[in-house]
Amino acid sequence: MILHGCTEKSDADYPIRPVPFMSVKLTDNFWAPRIKKNADVTIPIAFSYCESSGRVKNFEIAGGLDTGTFKTIYPFDDSDVFKIIEGAAYSLQTFPDPKLDAYLDTLIWKIGLAQEDDGYLYTNRTIAEMHGGKGLHEWASTNRWELDSILSHELYNLGHLYEAAVAHYQATGKRSLLDIAIKSAGLVDKDFGPEGEKVYPGHQVIEMGLVKLYRATGEKKYLDLARFFLDIRGPNGDAYNQAHKRVVDQTEAVGHSVRATYMYSGMADIAAIEKNDEYLNAITKIWEDIVYGKIYLTGGIGATGGNEGFADPYVLPNMSAYCETCASIGNIFTNHRLFLLHGDGKYIDILEKTLYNSMLSGVSLSADRFFYPNPLESNGQHERQAWFGCACCPSNVARFVPAIPGYVYGTTKNELYVNLYISNDAYIELGNKKISVSQKADFPWDGKVELTVNPEVQAKFKIKLRIPGWVRNEAIPGGLYKFADQNNAGYAISVNGETLSPEILDGYAVINRRWGKGDKINLELPMPVRTVVADGRIKDDIDKMAVQRGPVIYCAEWPDNNEGKVLNLVIDEGSSFTTEFVPGLLEGTQVIKTSGFQTRKTIEGGIETSEKEDVTLIPYALWNNRGPGQMMVWLPLKAESARPLPAPTIAYRSKLTGNKVETGLRPVSTSAVNDQIEPANSNDRSVSYYHWWPDRDQWVYLQYDFEKPETISKTRVYWFDDGPDGGCRIPDEWEIQYKAGNVWKPVKIADVETGLRPVSTNSYPITKNGWDSIEFEPVKTSGLKLRVKLNKEFSSGLYEWIVE
Ligand SMILES: [Zn+2]
Repeated sequence: MILHGCTEKSDADYPIRPVPFMSVKLTDNFWAPRIKKNADVTIPIAFSYCESSGRVKNFEIAGGLDTGTFKTIYPFDDSDVFKIIEGAAYSLQTFPDPKLDAYLDTLIWKIGLAQEDDGYLYTNRTIAEMHGGKGLHEWASTNRWELDSILSHELYNLGHLYEAAVAHYQATGKRSLLDIAIKSAGLVDKDFGPEGEKVYPGHQVIEMGLVKLYRATGEKKYLDLARFFLDIRGPNGDAYNQAHKRVVDQTEAVGHSVRATYMYSGMADIAAIEKNDEYLNAITKIWEDIVYGKIYLTGGIGATGGNEGFADPYVLPNMSAYCETCASIGNIFTNHRLFLLHGDGKYIDILEKTLYNSMLSGVSLSADRFFYPNPLESNGQHERQAWFGCACCPSNVARFVPAIPGYVYGTTKNELYVNLYISNDAYIELGNKKISVSQKADFPWDGKVELTVNPEVQAKFKIKLRIPGWVRNEAIPGGLYKFADQNNAGYAISVNGETLSPEILDGYAVINRRWGKGDKINLELPMPVRTVVADGRIKDDIDKMAVQRGPVIYCAEWPDNNEGKVLNLVIDEGSSFTTEFVPGLLEGTQVIKTSGFQTRKTIEGGIETSEKEDVTLIPYALWNNRGPGQMMVWLPLKAESARPLPAPTIAYRSKLTGNKVETGLRPVSTSAVNDQIEPANSNDRSVSYYHWWPDRDQWVYLQYDFEKPETISKTRVYWFDDGPDGGCRIPDEWEIQYKAGNVWKPVKIADVETGLRPVSTNSYPITKNGWDSIEFEPVKTSGLKLRVKLNKEFSSGLYEWIVE
């Protein structure tokens, strides 16, 4: 519902309007149950974490309902509460729930109490000011807004507040949160703008929030403010948050990928409403930069963890792929907006790819576990978590999933775009034509779609059926990925049983006719198993292929394959594929089978291969629902591109322990140390490593306990060093000790001049980007210890420790 009575707002907006999700009731077996689980599981647990972590308590304290200090870690923790309210508001429209409605009322009342008299809302500062400024977060400064370009996230919180407020108002008709948002936006409007503060938002999202506020209220000043926050960026800020150039001069996707996609979405909104070509040109070039070189096959974006963002073109490592769940959601926001601007199916191709793969993998089947990064390969070090200190991803899932039905259709006065094939009953208005549409499909497992059109009265209009790229032999617009096989099985379209071959325009089959009650369109999109290869410039994907069926990207995962090992698999080039639906697996999924063989390194340095065996593939998004373990999307075609099982060396057969096995939330497995995978350099993120971070300025160790006493005379170490950005460097000193009875003794190093002698620990070689090898007087021993002196300022880590 829209507030009326204000004349400022013009009708200018996107030329194509989405059919709002409230008007599209999903009836399918894939998304509808997920949306139900989001309502039953994700939203309640997300609110309960907000309660137990102190996020809600922060509002209570700031509002005077309780006393104490700021309860949580980050100043942007307020935003999680807003995002979950947004999700709950959407959810209420599909699943009315008086208890949840009442809970929101109470929560919003608390938020209102926490808002200062002049509209300022940021619990960290409000609480700190109750304690004479003590407890103000180090990311904020004593003056409001001053550090927002860096890290204070004051405007970021408000962007999510505005989105939540509009959602809550539209869902319930209640103005409670909307009034809080309007009061806040009034203050922002007073403090910022051409006459006010010139600080740009460090983490974008307020731009989209203000546009929604503008649409809901008709107040043009919110639109002006959104444009102000975009135009004030650059040219001398950080690339990390896209302030290195004026937004209209940007042509490449750089920096933090969530901030980036939120900004591009805000720019699209302004471009649409104000017909701003400069914005449009910029985002068009940026979109090409992403899609032609910086996106994963799964639709994930943001290759590197250090900046949580974009790397150079074609730098797309699989195991260390960042692909933050929030960035997938942001990428969907941007591509949806670009579709609404241009009506081109290529944007929905990216949206659909992201939706079924990189976004969906962000949440478990149980709907209560979440990935922050979504890597394309794992050695078992990745596992979804129940919650995070920084909880942006779960709260983003909570608000995104209930809104999925809103991506199915788009309309102009005379055209109905059918973008996604999901069973639903929809009520659609095309200009003044009222139409019910019923769609039957079994996506993503089957490509048959039946659309029944029921216009209130007979009417002539165009129905535009999206013919996905994967049906037109286009793995992705621009060719970063290509289908390796030939598929000539075309799609088929009929209306009331009569076969048609309509023209294809921008990825849509256009059917222009007079439609009457009960007219039926049948669309058949063939879904053979397809193989995909990557552009040769993506190093990690050389001599590998991926498998896709419909929009779904597949992976090999440990429970389905030989003794839980998949990284050492090689697929037979030219092998055939079979596919079947397995109702009992992962709540029902289409599985693909092919064949391949296992590889293993030999002691002599060769590679041996196993007999041919079956290889089972499951949808990538469904991995890690059966515990952590190996997984890969890109399947090696040659032994050289696989990760063969380690040779049965002494190190591999030994028990390996260290004095740091876990740090923080993420366990650090020692398995990297003897997996015999050599990195390309000391900061090779495609290879797993062991580290002691955040420990520093102390001696630490790793220890091999051999199966039986062995004679050892050589050892090699390859250090990890993620400088200058990360926290690890090559160590200050190290040494090797061996077990002599019950005591540990240093080995005697071979020295050309003095013969064998124990040397001081600081004369061991310490090399970055290469091996440190030492030879020593042979010792027969049951164990070897690698002692490492960490630098005063930095921690250390290593890729590999070999003993011979
Ligand atoms: Zn996130």
